[in-house]
Amino acid sequence: MKAPDFSYVRPASLDEAIGLLVTHGESAVPLAGGQSLLTTLNMRLSAPELLVDISGLDELRGIDVDGGTVRIGALARHVDVATSPVVAEHLPLISEAMAHVAHVAIRNRGTFGGSLANADPAAELPACAVVLKATLVLAGPDGQREVAAGDFYQGLFETTRQGDELLVEVRVPVQPAGQLFAFEELSRRSGDFGIAGLAATGQLEDGGFADLRLAYLGCDDGPRLAAAVAAAVSGQGGPLDDRQIAEALRQDYEFSDVPGLSAATKVRLAAVLTRRALDRMRGAA
Ligand SMILES: Cc1cc2nc3c(=O)[nH]c(=O)nc-3n(C[C@H](O)[C@H](O)[C@H](O)COP(=O)(O)OP(=O)(O)OC[C@H]3O[C@@H](n4cnc5c(N)ncnc54)[C@H](O)[C@@H]3O)c2cc1C
Repeated sequence: MKAPDFSYVRPASLDEAIGLLVTHGESAVPLAGGQSLLTTLNMRLSAPELLVDISGLDELRGIDVDGGTVRIGALARHVDVATSPVVAEHLPLISEAMAHVAHVAIRNRGTFGGSLANADPAAELPACAVVLKATLVLAGPDGQREVAAGDFYQGLFETTRQGDELLVEVRVPVQPAGQLFAFEELSRRSGDFGIAGLAATGQLEDGGFADLRLAYLGCDDGPRLAAAVAAAVSGQGGPLDDRQIAEALRQDYEFSDVPGLSAATKVRLAAVLTRRALDRMRGAA
């Protein structure tokens, strides 16, 4: 299929881009790397009248660290994040997750901000942002506001971003000393969206897990902390029981059958991935 007709504009400044979104309302959408948006257009899953191409806004690029915070511009491409020494040193969970984000060609164009704004429940980066307590900075006609990643995601492809706002940057606290992390995902083919996966951080104290933060992808309609799983495995030092993890997962998320994969199988896969992640974290300690 071909995309429906649309108009295209490439603003020269952030103010101009926001002005266009204000003027055109719901009929306009931002275009960043186009790796999700153009697919939905070609499949006729969306039909905006105007694409506001923000890819020329250089002020939305860049990755740097300032004190205890890493700043990632919304237009930093996946490849920029994946190869960034700043991210590798201070946000190793994101470096690990990046290996699972799509294929090289897509990573060369797709953006960090585009992935977070798109809110695909199977995407890796939203889960990382929630676990790492990232702050999303949104710019709109009334200035900028900050939203915690945990409050940003509202459901399937739904966020608290207003239609006339742009995600401009993401601020992530640098990984604290002694914090353990792991990213695990299962996909049918390398580079595909995951069937299930999780981002995890935590500590080992007295041989057991503490301060665990776990967020899953592909398991519900968006990334949320899995409080029941964290409670079930906290303090445990020995081998973890998949059945116990699966039971907790069912409390945290609503699993449903999808063509080719039952909810029961998905819970089982998520439980195994959880155990693998926690085993790796224990091994790293
Ligand atoms: C074959 C294929 C496989 C893929 N596999 C994966 C995968 O395994 N994991 C994964 O996470 N992704 C995957 N993707 C998606 C890819 O990572 C996208 O690049 C990413 O999801 C969106 O980034 P983008 O810059 O291309 O955004 P776009 O496609 O340009 O935009 C996506 C959405 O976000 C909005 N948007 C973009 N930037 C902003 C902004 N700064 N402010 C406000 N709104 C904005 C757009 O309006 C649009 O609604 C895959 C894509 C393809 C085609």
